[in-house]
This record gives sequence, structure tokens and C-alpha cells, in this order.
Amino acid sequence: MSPDLAGPRSRAVADERTSEARALLQTTAAVDLHLDTFIPTRLFGYDFDATHAYPFRHLIGHVDLPRAARGGLKGGLWSITTNPFRSSSSRLRIFRHNVARLRALVEGSRQAAWVTTATAFAAAIDQGRHAVIPVVQGANCLGPLSSFREAGGADVVSATLVHLTSSNLGETSTPLPGKHRWGPRGLSARGHLLVESMNAEKVLIDLAHAAASTFWDVVAVHDRSQPLLVTHTGVSGVFPHWRNIDDAQLKAVAGTGGVIGVIFHPGFLGPGLGLSAVVAHLAHIVDVVGEDHAALGSDWDGFITPPAELKDVTLLPGLVAAMLQRGWSVERVKKILGENFLRCLRAVRP
Ligand SMILES: [Zn+2]
Repeated sequence: MSPDLAGPRSRAVADERTSEARALLQTTAAVDLHLDTFIPTRLFGYDFDATHAYPFRHLIGHVDLPRAARGGLKGGLWSITTNPFRSSSSRLRIFRHNVARLRALVEGSRQAAWVTTATAFAAAIDQGRHAVIPVVQGANCLGPLSSFREAGGADVVSATLVHLTSSNLGETSTPLPGKHRWGPRGLSARGHLLVESMNAEKVLIDLAHAAASTFWDVVAVHDRSQPLLVTHTGVSGVFPHWRNIDDAQLKAVAGTGGVIGVIFHPGFLGPGLGLSAVVAHLAHIVDVVGEDHAALGSDWDGFITPPAELKDVTLLPGLVAAMLQRGWSVERVKKILGENFLRCLRAVRP
């Protein structure tokens, strides 16, 4: 075929795939396992109820509710991220304040619904509202406590034990110089206590940001009947990186019926590959542990620079089109987009 014929023809095929993807998204409860849109709301008063336009790949501003609706994203795990540089008692105070603040914003929005159970999720979808599932990044938000319920966080559906720094709960995956001099190796005794309390209170444990030592300590002690999550990560089977998890870790998560959400940050996925890198990481998860354990965990609005083809949530159909282009079945794509996570939510909070 001559180059001038190839252009229009492949464009027509691509357009057809994208409309197929849009149709698929309309009938799918697509959920993103990690949205940081509450950060710009806290820092700059960003209004997630209004449409924003950013012409470039921007560190934040990837998501708002009108654009989520246009892109076909029906819900997300909305992270309440902990500032590690505060004192223990002020972290607890700020956490209580942030839970109340996010909830008030959601309840004041006609486009959103506060969702902490699978039943509430289904109701939100029926009403055409974006399901805001409150989660935590950095369980040191609890300060001196070891219970989300006691801290006023009974609505929190999942939490990472650690974030970018180690804490008295456990060791981060971030390669900080000298971290073993001031922080624990792996999960601390206090972290172990928290794992037990999260299991008892049905707060899903999210192992994103955990060092491998922390990860395996948690696998050894947590209640195996509850699914483990790694909400936003890459996989080292595609691109070895300290932020990514290996095949043994994928198998451990899958062994609990859990899910792994693929992040959209090229620094962790392998630079220069764009949207196809996201699909490559998803494909590796499917190859190693099957299609029931892969999901999306963009980290949009978390100061990442997503690939240009995923620079905001309206471009989600392009990612779905790329999955279909790979020959994946509609069933598989729907599982990755939302059904896999909803299975985990139903398991602990029907
Ligand atoms: Zn993160």
C-alpha cells in the first residue's frame, strides 16, 4: 500500500476503534485506583466541579468531574495524602479535617457521590454521579492512633501504609539516603498492629510505595481472606525501577484476589513509550497473574507528567482503544477498567 493510502485508511481504523472504546466505556463502571485531585483542591482551591482546560502536559489539572464524565470515568479512589513533615498529633488533626472537607465538597456537588460500599457505588452509577471513594496515602495520618475508626476515618476504604518517606509504620520504597538509620526495615511492630486493625475494620491495605521488605512482611501477617491492593505502580518485569513491583509480588497480590493498578507516569513505566507503555505494563500483569488482577491507577493530579496521549481524563477512550487494538476481549477490558476492583470492594464492603 502506498504511504498516501495508508494514512487515511489507518486513521479511519483508529477512529472506529475510538468510537468502539467510547461505546464500551458507556456501559462500564470504569474506576481509577488512584486520583490525587484533592491535592490541588487543598493547595489552590481547585474546583473539581468545573471544567478546566490545560493546553500542555501539566503536573496537575488532569481531572475534574465534567471531564471525567466526558472521558467515561465513573469513579475513583480519591486519595487523602498525608504530609509527612508535620508532627504526629497535627497529622491526626489535619486528617480529620481533610476527611470532613472532602466529604463536604462531594456532598455539595451534584456530579459526585460519597461511596464507601459496593451498594453505594452501584447507586452512584445509576444516578450518573462520579463515585468518590475516599482513601488514604500515608497511614501515618493516624498520628498516635492505630485505628481508622477511632481517628474519624471509618469511611476510608483503603490506605497505603507508607508514602514517599519511611515512617514509624514501615519502610518506603523510595531510595532515601540513610533511611535505615532513622526508619524501620520492613514493617514495624506498630505497622503490624495497624495491619491487624485495618483487617478488622475492613480498610483495604494498599502496598503502593512499600519497600519490598514491608510488602513481604505485610503479606505474611495480613488476613489472607481480604484482597491486597497496589493501587498505582509499574511492574519491573517491563521496566526495572525501585517504584515498581516484581512478578513474585504480582503473584502474592493475585493470591489474595487483589488488584494492581498501573500508574501513568513515564518515569516508572519506561520513558518515551507513551500510552503504549501503560498497555505493556497491563499486559505483563495479565501474562503473569491473569486478567482478574489488572486495573488502572493513573496518579492523575499527583504531580506526575502523564504521556501526551493521556494528558487528561477525557483521553481515556484512547487507552481503551489501544487495549482493543491489542486484540483483548471486551470482557478483559471491562475487568481491567473496573470490575476487578469492584470485586475487591464487594469482598470487604458489600
Ligand atoms: Zn503515590
